[in-house]
Amino acid sequence: MRIEEMFKTGKPVLSFEIFPPKRNRELEEIDDTLKVLCELEPDFISVTFGAGGRGISSRTVELAKKIRRDYHVEPLVHLTCLNYTKQEICEILNELEAAGLENILALRGDRNPDVEPKQDFQYASDLVKFIREYGGFHISGACYPEGHTEAKNRIQDIRNLKHKVDEGVTHLVSQLFFDNEFFYGFQEKARIAGIDVPIEAGIMPVINKAQIERMVSLCGASLPAKFQRIMSKYENRKEALFDAGMAYAVSQIVELLANDVDGIHIFTMNNPKVAKRICTEIRNLI
Ligand code: FAD
Repeated sequence: MRIEEMFKTGKPVLSFEIFPPKRNRELEEIDDTLKVLCELEPDFISVTFGAGGRGISSRTVELAKKIRRDYHVEPLVHLTCLNYTKQEICEILNELEAAGLENILALRGDRNPDVEPKQDFQYASDLVKFIREYGGFHISGACYPEGHTEAKNRIQDIRNLKHKVDEGVTHLVSQLFFDNEFFYGFQEKARIAGIDVPIEAGIMPVINKAQIERMVSLCGASLPAKFQRIMSKYENRKEALFDAGMAYAVSQIVELLANDVDGIHIFTMNNPKVAKRICTEIRNLI
């Protein structure tokens, strides 16, 4: 099923994000995680893709095939473009088409200072155009409630996003954020700019301090004072930090749902306990 169709039911969409096991590990190692995630009946599961430079991330496609074949859940395949040629992207699209995988999250990918980009694609919007012209796929895109780290300013970032949507994106998934006000402000500006596609809110439940510091340094999300207080109070007590992190994520989600968000996308970090705990808490809200 195409992801854009899932937003037509009138109910908020619930989705999970996972990453494939490393190349030297068996793909089957993720089965224990997938079993739990799929029992929670998400609308779709998205699978991350390497930014490239070290060969094509065929593991992503393998895992997406597995989710569809063994668990009958719709996968959303992430695809980055900065470090790939048109020929390489075309080969991946051929493979996805042959496997009947029709949903792609089209991304630029982060710049890697050690890898010279291939020059065929500058921005995600170039990839969106390429996929649209190839035909037959639903295309999702990424968006940034606090603005993308490289953007000149948020206005330009929104204009660039509008261009990406106009090229063929029919659903957006947001970067993580810990203060819902950023999401509401962004969503309002996006709507004013004429971006009318569903926008899913990306939620990263915190389970350890190092994980959050790494993510925040990569994506530039700000940490509200109340969140920082929780981290410093419980950072050395694993179970307490887990409980507090889940409670924080649940309170974000409850408020977003009360404000009629189009969907919730949980960055599960391949931790089924996280997804289960959150879904149990919000089971009557969706
Ligand atoms: P773009 O939409 O191209 O935007 C990148 C920057 O370029 C922005 O600052 C934008 O304002 C600017 N820009 C866009 N168009 C123009 C233009 N025409 N002229 C000038 N400036 C322009 N990375 C991975 O490697 N693998 C993954 O699986 C992955 N999954 C992700 C999932 C989500 C939900 C999100 C939010 C991010 C994910 N990323 C992933 C990270 C993503 O690749 C980076 O954030 C990357 O830096 C930007 O990708 P993008 O697709 O948003 O780029």
